[in-house]
Amino acid sequence: MNFKALSGGVPIGGAHYLVELEDKRIVIDCGAVQAGGKVFPPPIAQGRIDALLLTHGHLDHVGMFPLFVKEHPDTPIYGTKVTWRFARMLLWDSYWVAIKKMERGEKVDVYFSASDIADALSLKKFRLVHNPEWFSPWPGWRIRFRSSGHINGAASIDIISPKGFRIIHSGDISFVDMPTIKGAEIANDFMSPEVLITEGTYGDRDLPNRAKEQQKVVDKVVEVLGQGGQVLVPSFSITGPNMGIIIANGLAEAGVDIPVHLDGMVRTAAGIISGSSEWSPNDDSAAFPKNLIAVPEDPEKARAYRQKLLEGGPAVIASSHGMLEGGMAMFYLEHLITDYKSAVLLLGYQAEGTGGRKLLELERGHRFQINRRSFPIYCDVKRFQLSSHASGNELAGWISEIQPWHVIITHAPNSGAQGLERKIKERHSSIRVSKGFNGEYVSH
Ligand SMILES: [Zn+2]
Repeated sequence: MNFKALSGGVPIGGAHYLVELEDKRIVIDCGAVQAGGKVFPPPIAQGRIDALLLTHGHLDHVGMFPLFVKEHPDTPIYGTKVTWRFARMLLWDSYWVAIKKMERGEKVDVYFSASDIADALSLKKFRLVHNPEWFSPWPGWRIRFRSSGHINGAASIDIISPKGFRIIHSGDISFVDMPTIKGAEIANDFMSPEVLITEGTYGDRDLPNRAKEQQKVVDKVVEVLGQGGQVLVPSFSITGPNMGIIIANGLAEAGVDIPVHLDGMVRTAAGIISGSSEWSPNDDSAAFPKNLIAVPEDPEKARAYRQKLLEGGPAVIASSHGMLEGGMAMFYLEHLITDYKSAVLLLGYQAEGTGGRKLLELERGHRFQINRRSFPIYCDVKRFQLSSHASGNELAGWISEIQPWHVIITHAPNSGAQGLERKIKERHSSIRVSKGFNGEYVSH
């Protein structure tokens, strides 16, 4: 077996991995690479490719797959239905954002056309994986997708060749239960693969207890509402609905009769999650409570609704973008930022140069730019650490249960890969550990 991270191995970036096993060449994910404020494709796998397997619908895993399909028009694509729907949402959104930028005269690099997106999403090419059972794409081969708990529709992939060589790819993985998706299980039928390709995003880190951190968010929301303020929770589209549910349930438990509103792409993603039939027993698309309300889709109605919401006293709004890089969150921020009683709750990592990071770094009273206008910051700004990835110790524990012969660490910064290697070796010194450096082959 030969493995090569074309991108997104070590160091982390848009994921694009090649697995050569017996007579097959299989590619996993084709994500967008983001660096220096730009988005660009990974070096696309060349030569004959027998299948493209998509682990989940985040842009760093599916963002460039239309380009792959353009170069490999005959390669079948496999992914869950939720992954397909998230990919469709994000690809079209990125496309329209690019078109709008071009109309404003900004320079934008575009790597595929509208017809390339439609072609990649065509269900003649994209074969939906409807359940976590084995399927056989070629005689003697078995592949299955198992829920990886990271986001709805996300999967670990299990591959067994005709000669019985087994590869498991973790995908992005989380072991913590969320309202609409349970954490990944340590499946007892995952045992002793020859090769385990794992993510290692936080391989060197311990993360705060998720349940406690979530409770801190709920407590803060209750406090702000109690003083008559409004709460903006800038959210990533795909993880936003779950946070909305957690806050809505927390408010109901605390006896606070104020609903949580979803807006922007968080609203769209909530529609995808609640409207998708469950592909895995780990999914629960019916977990949406009554006190979670979507802002109307119709633009006219939405405008009036938002205005009423902002003028109506205490309110909670979860809206994209999660790092305050545009989206409807900016509209709400404009109204809340100058209000002493209100708060902005940032829930995860805020990358360098993003609006979220700038807002965190500025002090109260300093000025913040929104849509080329500057506002003094009077609202409260709080950051919480909620992650959809497993910590280094969780990953090492999972790996030592599975007992692979050989672990290849991918999707990790250098420090994460080193930390995870150390943690695996501490538990099982006999497991061979390789780092999947970008562009380099790892063989077994
Ligand atoms: Zn992801």
